[in-house]
Amino acid sequence: MYNVMSPKAEEFISHEEILDSLEYGEKNKENRELIDRILAKARERRGLSHREAMVLLDCELEDKIQEIFALAEQIKKDFYGNRIVMFAPLYLSNYCVNGCEYCPYHAKNKHIARKKLTQEEIVKEVTALQDMGHKRLALEAGEDPVHNPIEYILECIHTIYGIRHKNGAIRRVNVNIAATTVENYRKLKEAGIGTYILFQETYHRESYEKLHPTGPKHDYAYHTEAMDRAMEGGIDDVGLGVLFGLNNYRYDFAGILMHAEHLEAYKGVGPHTISVPRLRRADDIDPDAFDNGITDETFARIVACIRIAVPYTGMIVSTRESQSCREKVLHLGISQISGGSRTSVGGYAGPEPEEENSAQFDVSDNRTLDQVVKWLMEMDYVPSFCTACYREGRTGDRFMTLLKSGQIVNCCHPNALMTLKEYLEDYAAEETKAIGDKLIEKELDVITNPKVKEKVVDYLKNIHNGQRDFRF
Ligand code: SAM
Repeated sequence: MYNVMSPKAEEFISHEEILDSLEYGEKNKENRELIDRILAKARERRGLSHREAMVLLDCELEDKIQEIFALAEQIKKDFYGNRIVMFAPLYLSNYCVNGCEYCPYHAKNKHIARKKLTQEEIVKEVTALQDMGHKRLALEAGEDPVHNPIEYILECIHTIYGIRHKNGAIRRVNVNIAATTVENYRKLKEAGIGTYILFQETYHRESYEKLHPTGPKHDYAYHTEAMDRAMEGGIDDVGLGVLFGLNNYRYDFAGILMHAEHLEAYKGVGPHTISVPRLRRADDIDPDAFDNGITDETFARIVACIRIAVPYTGMIVSTRESQSCREKVLHLGISQISGGSRTSVGGYAGPEPEEENSAQFDVSDNRTLDQVVKWLMEMDYVPSFCTACYREGRTGDRFMTLLKSGQIVNCCHPNALMTLKEYLEDYAAEETKAIGDKLIEKELDVITNPKVKEKVVDYLKNIHNGQRDFRF
C-alpha cells in the first residue's frame, strides 16, 4: 500500500502550505483558547500537525510558554526516560564537488587540507574511538564520485565493523552522505548501516538553490526526495535535519514537520531521528554572513516544539552546541548526543598538524567523552551505549511499536544500564566509574519486570569475568 503514488517534493513540502502555516502561527500566537486546545491534544502524546506545532512555536503568552516547556520535558521523560544515547562522528573524506556556501568543504575552497582516510587510517581512528568507549558512529563524507564513490563508503563500513580491539567494537554505523540512488541505498542497507542521515539544510527551495549554486546538491527535488529513495532501498531508519542559521527558522520548522508527516503517510513510518544543527564558524565560513542566526532561547523552543509534535522521533544535538546550551535542551527532548568529537578527517588517533586543518566546523563542546559521560550522570541521566534495537531487528515501525508499548523500561533501560556498565568497566576514569556504579544501582529500580531485572543484575556481576554484549 505504501510507496504508491508518493507525492513529489513540491507537493509534500508545499511552499503555499508553509506560508499559510506561518500566517496561522502569527495570527494565533496570543489565541489562548486555541493554544489550550493544542496543548490538550499534545498531552495525549500522539503528536501534532505542523500547523498546530507552529502555533506553539510562535506562542507569546508567557504562562503558556512555560506550559510548552513543561510538557516537552514530561513527554521526553515518558518516552525516553533519563537515557541519553552516545555517539561520535567519523569524517572519512572532505573531498567534495558541491558548492555549499556554508560549508568549508565546498569545491572552490583551495586552501583547506583535502584528506581521505585509507583503510589503515580507519583502523587507527576506530581503534582510538573504541578506546574512548564509543560503540556507535555517524560516518560523514563530502560528495565526490571520484574520491568517495559508494564503493569506498561500503569498504569503510566493512572495515569498521570488522575492527575488534580489546573489549571494543563499533556496533552501529550510521551514515551521513549525500543524496544518492535507490540502488546505492540498497547497498548501504546490505552493508548493515543503522540510520541514514541527510540534512535538508533548508526546505525553502529558492534559498536552497542559492545556497547550493553548483554541484549535484543543487537539485532541490533530488535532495528532498532522498529519504523516499532510501526507504525504497530498504532503509527504514532515516534521520532528518535542517541547518539552523541558513534560512528563516519558522519556515524550516514547518518544513521538517511536513517532511515527517509525509514519511509517516507514504512510507508508514516517520523519521527515526531529527537533528538540530546550528551553523558554526569554519575555515572560510562566517556564520554572521547568513543573517538568520537564532538565539539559544529560540533554539530551546524549537527543540521543545519538535519534541511535542513528534514524540516518537529521537532528537540529536551535536558538539556544535556548548555545554550550557546542551544542558538546557537535554531536558526538553534530546535523546542522543555526541561526545569527544573531531570534525576533521583523522584526528582521533592523534591531533591534526595545525597547518593541515581539515575540520568541517569549530566545535563548541570540546570535552572528552569521559567528561561528557560524567557530566550526564551528575545530572542523573543514564548515558547509553546501546545499539540493540537495530541489531535485534527493531527498526522502523517495529521500533515505534516498542516505544508505544510502554515496555521501554524493560528493554531500553536494562540495555542502557548494561552498556553503561561496560563503559565504566573498560574505559571510565576512576571518579566517573564511582558515580556510574552508584547511578546504576539506583536505576535498577526502574526495571519493572522481575525476570528482566534478575538477568541484568546477573550480567552486571559477570562483566568482571569478561562477558560483553548481552542485550534484550
Ligand atoms: N556531504 C553530505 C551532504 O551533503 O549531505 C554530508 C554532509 S556534511 C559532512 C554534514 C552536515 O554538516 C551538512 O549536512 C551540514 O548541515 C553540516 N554543516 C556544513 N557546514 C557547516 C557549518 N559551517 N556549521 C555547522 N554545520 C555545518
